[in-house]
Amino acid sequence: MGSAERIRSVAKRVAKWARAGHQVVVVPSAMSGETNRLLGLAGELAPAHIDKSYLREQDMLAATGEQASSALLAIALQAEGMQAISYTGWQVPVRTDSGYTKARIESIDTERIQADLNAGRVVVITGFQGIDGQGHITTLGRGGSDTSALAIAAVLKADECLIFTDVDGVYTTDPRVVPAARRLHSVSFEEMLEMASLGSKVLQIRSVEFAGKYKVPMRVLSSMTPWDIDWAVEASSGTLITFEEDEKMEKAVVSGIAFNRGEAKISVLGVPDTPGVAATILGAVADANIEVDVIIQNISKEGKTDFSFTVGQADYAQALELLREKVAPSLGASEVLGDPSIAKVSIVGIGMRSHVGVASTMFRALSQEGVNIQMISTSEIKTSVVINEKYLELAVRALHTAFGLDKTEQAA
Ligand code: ASP
Ligand code: MG
Repeated sequence: MGSAERIRSVAKRVAKWARAGHQVVVVPSAMSGETNRLLGLAGELAPAHIDKSYLREQDMLAATGEQASSALLAIALQAEGMQAISYTGWQVPVRTDSGYTKARIESIDTERIQADLNAGRVVVITGFQGIDGQGHITTLGRGGSDTSALAIAAVLKADECLIFTDVDGVYTTDPRVVPAARRLHSVSFEEMLEMASLGSKVLQIRSVEFAGKYKVPMRVLSSMTPWDIDWAVEASSGTLITFEEDEKMEKAVVSGIAFNRGEAKISVLGVPDTPGVAATILGAVADANIEVDVIIQNISKEGKTDFSFTVGQADYAQALELLREKVAPSLGASEVLGDPSIAKVSIVGIGMRSHVGVASTMFRALSQEGVNIQMISTSEIKTSVVINEKYLELAVRALHTAFGLDKTEQAA
């Protein structure tokens, strides 16, 4: 929602659903650019830092963006002739822990919402925010409105949670990289979880976790369509995130190709191949609050081995320094190498559970393009490889074709 005009159009869309007989709760995020604008103002007064007192005020501030858009939407709904009322997180209340800027929802009261719905009102609830046990306003992390919406849908046992966004659904891969990418009509929530965590940033990942835990059907659809398309047509547009694997019509083995440019690789060379070495290296990294992703250890030669893993690019410099200064000397490692120019590419699909040879198809497709694989990791429903970043687009395109995901002429 970027302007009064956009808010009016959202109100008309909501009114359409309500007039079709649905009870509707709307969870707006801030007007576009507003959260950045607010946090930017704070940054002008004091550079962002991680003192609790600063983070508290950041949340206090950022939460106003959603308060404004919620009230504006309620006003617009009333102007459309609807009964509507808006609430902030603390009015509902949406209770969270005290983790400012990344709080987790603990519980949501439904009494007030339910009473309004029963009285025929459209209820508007601020996304992104809640209140902690001491009455402080908290926020759920960037993109947190998705999670608010899912959590509210879960406690209200909603029929479906519709996430209106600026893309029209979940794609087999990023259409900017592969123009032949297709929109998926449905995707299982487990696949969605992998795709979200692997960098397809359509949704805040925690919202998908909520959908899975509480089995709330969730649909990602476009907010850019004309508001007056028939609601029943709209209701089957976009991508449905489902739990019923058997009913999946598209029986593709691989549903999507996800990728992540935001990782870096670190190798610790020549460490003794004895029990406790992995724990020492990764323990030190974990103690610095750095998350590790793909891990490999080479077979040992003459009692020595090499150990490699990936971390997020934001943590790369710190992790490298920590290993070079502290860990490597204590283990007698010969060298610590770093490579920030890597990318991770993954094939994702619940069909992989029941098919063999999926990984080898992946490796063959990559080798035919001359892409060298540096690391591999697998789970039941995905296989990831770490490659040189400069081959990322080539690799994604090759895999998209190899697994039959390219849009065909008729299907387009
Ligand atoms: N307004 C918040 C943000 O920009 C939450 C959201 O949009 O989902 O991150
Ligand atoms: Mg958002």
